[in-house]
Parts: sequence; C-alpha cells; structure tokens
Amino acid sequence: MAAHPIGVHVGPGLTEDNELDAGGPLARAAEMDADGVQVFLADPQGWTAPRPRPDAEALQAGDVMVVVHAPYVLNVATTNNRIRIPSRKLLDKHAQAAAAIGARGMVVHGGHVLAKDDPAAGVDNWRKTFARQAESGGFAVPLLIENTAGGGNAMARDLEAIARLWEVVGEFGAGFVLDTCHAWAAGWDLGTAVDDVRAITGRVDLVHLNNSRDPAGSSRDRHAPLGDGEIPTELLVEVARAADCPVVLETPGDAASHAAEIELLRSALT
Ligand SMILES: [Zn+2]
Repeated sequence: MAAHPIGVHVGPGLTEDNELDAGGPLARAAEMDADGVQVFLADPQGWTAPRPRPDAEALQAGDVMVVVHAPYVLNVATTNNRIRIPSRKLLDKHAQAAAAIGARGMVVHGGHVLAKDDPAAGVDNWRKTFARQAESGGFAVPLLIENTAGGGNAMARDLEAIARLWEVVGEFGAGFVLDTCHAWAAGWDLGTAVDDVRAITGRVDLVHLNNSRDPAGSSRDRHAPLGDGEIPTELLVEVARAADCPVVLETPGDAASHAAEIELLRSALT
C-alpha cells in the first residue's frame, strides 16, 4: 500500500439484497486507481445494524486501505437517552463489522447536545462511551472522531470544543479526522489547521479532503470537487501535505473526475 494512501468515499457498494453493486467498493477503487475506499456498512441515515458483507474476505485480504464511516444519525454525546443508548450500541456493532472487513478505523462525527444543554454533558457522554467500551476490551477498530461543519453545541466543530473533548477521549486513544470542508465552514484557518489540531490532540489520523461550495465560516456542509469550490486547491494540497497521513476524498463526481483528483493529489504530494 502507498505510504500515504488516497482513498475515495464510495458508500455501501451493496444492493438492497446485500449483493455487490457493480463489483462493489474494490471495483470502484480499481476504476479510479484509488489506494483506498471509505464505506458505509448500513444505511447512513438509519439505525440498522450491519450485515456480513459478501466482499469481507476480499476487502480484508487486499492491499486497498479500508475505512468505515459510521451512520450520520449516531450521536453518543446527546443527553437524549433514546438517541444516545442506541447510538452506543450501534457504534460497537459497526466497529465489530468494520474489523470483519479489515478496516483500519471507523469515522464517527463528534455529535452535539441540545441548545438548552451544557456542552460539558456531551463531553462526559463521550467519556462514558469510551469508558464503558473499555470494560469489554475497547472498540474492535480505532474510532476516529471527525470535526463537523455547524450546529449549536457541537462537540467537534470549534478547536476550543475539540480541546474540551480531547481532555476526556485522548486517554482512550481516540483518533482524529480533519475534514477540510467542515473546518472551512467552521471558520478555521486552513493554513494552520493541521498544526492547530495537533497542538490539541497530538494527532491527525485521516484527512477528509473536500472543497466547499460555500464561503468560509458559513457553517454549511456542501462538499465540492477539489478544483471547483471556494477553497483554493493549493490550500487543500497543503493540508494533505502537512497532515502526512491517509486521505479520503468525499467530493462529488464520477469515477473519471475522482481519478483526476487522485492523480492531481498524488503528483502534488510526491
Ligand atoms: Zn467528512
């Protein structure tokens, strides 16, 4: 595998009948000459548990980097029991399913608490999530917490919030995913973002390299192709270079445009 693999988010890659959709994620990777794929293991907007995948062995045995993205609906930070408890259970199940396909980690959003809540409650819910899981040996793959674009009382939108979160999750070995579109939406300086995060977390494990359709500080989460958005392309390349870790593109476009983005990035980074 490449030292700094460049992957593409390809979704579940499965049909409704749990069969490979047009060859599945590995076929997509080959089509785009990607070093890796990021997949969903179930409906990203739903609460269903993952099913065993028909390509589990192939994903595990191959030299393509596999990253799993947890469903968007999970929110282990919330004070709402009816969301938090199923979120914790599903996080565990998704991590086990991620291990079964040889994933190197699972991306999960930082989540949020309600406007009336003290954000400290959300931080403590994250601590409990890791602490309880640690009692049964920890998560089956490393959890990688991603910064988010907007929303009030978010756990991982602003650097100050990430600092509060890391005071409790750092000791459990939580990883960090830097999403450039989300950081831009939250008003971060992308020129220093990698250093700013590292000063807090000590690590950046994965970059979601995405351009944005919206101006800096918009709080809007609308990804754009690397070369066609509000963020200068050179600035995105600089983030990838500074992070010096695997990259996953979550940009809109077809196989040909993703192949071109990978090509651009690969040549800029070598
Ligand atoms: Zn992302």
